[in-house]
Amino acid sequence: MTESQAGSIFPPGYPLNTIIKPRLEHLAEAPIPTRNGTFRLLVFRYDDPSAHPTLSDEHVALVMGDVSGQSHVPVRVHSECLTSEVFGSLKCDCKEQLDAAQSLIGQRGLGVLLYLRQEGRGIGLANKIKAYALQADGVDTVEANERLHLPVDARQYDVAADILRQLSVRSVELMTNNPEKQESLDRLGIPVVGRIPLHTGANPHSEGYLTVKRDRLRHLLPGDLGRTKH
Ligand SMILES: [Zn+2]
Repeated sequence: MTESQAGSIFPPGYPLNTIIKPRLEHLAEAPIPTRNGTFRLLVFRYDDPSAHPTLSDEHVALVMGDVSGQSHVPVRVHSECLTSEVFGSLKCDCKEQLDAAQSLIGQRGLGVLLYLRQEGRGIGLANKIKAYALQADGVDTVEANERLHLPVDARQYDVAADILRQLSVRSVELMTNNPEKQESLDRLGIPVVGRIPLHTGANPHSEGYLTVKRDRLRHLLPGDLGRTKH
C-alpha cells in the first residue's frame, strides 16, 4: 500500500477514475431547423442522485454557431415548464422567456440554450400542480411550496456548468432576470461576464407570480412588470 492510499477513504485497489468520472454523458446530436434558424440539438444524461425522482435525467443543449473556445457566448439556462411551453398556461413567463432567448440566439447566430428537466423549479410536475391548486385558493407561489413542505426553489445548475464545459464555452453572457442563477454558475466555475435581461411582460394571470419573483425571489424585473394585455 502506498502512503497516499493509506490515507484514502477508499479501499486499496478501488478504481479512482470511477470517482472522478464526470456524471455527464453525451447521448445524441442532430441539426434541428426552427423558426429562429437551424440549431444543433445535443442530448445529455446527467446522473444526479439529489434530483427529484420524478424528473427526467435527459437534458438538452440547443447550440447555434461554433461556441467552442468562445467568450461572451449568449447563454440561456432554462428549466422545463410543461404547463406554459406545451399548453400555453398564462400563469408564468417561462414560454415567453424561452422564445425570447431562442430568438436572440438566432439573431446573433451564436449561442447556447440549455433546457434542463427541472419542472416546477425542481419539484416535479405533480408537486407543481399541487402548488397551483393551493394558489387557486389565493396562496402565493412561495407559501404554496412551504405548505407542501417543498423547497421554494430546488433547481440546480451543476448540469448546466458541466454541459458548458463540455461545449468548451469560455465565458457567458447570461440571459436571465435571476441573479441567483448568475451567482450559481459563477460558483460552479463558469465565468458570467454579462447579463442580458429577458423582460417579456406580465399578464393578469402571471402578475402575482412575477410580483413574488421580483419582491421575494430577488428577480430583476421592472416596477410595472412590463404589463401586457391577454
Ligand atoms: Zn413556468
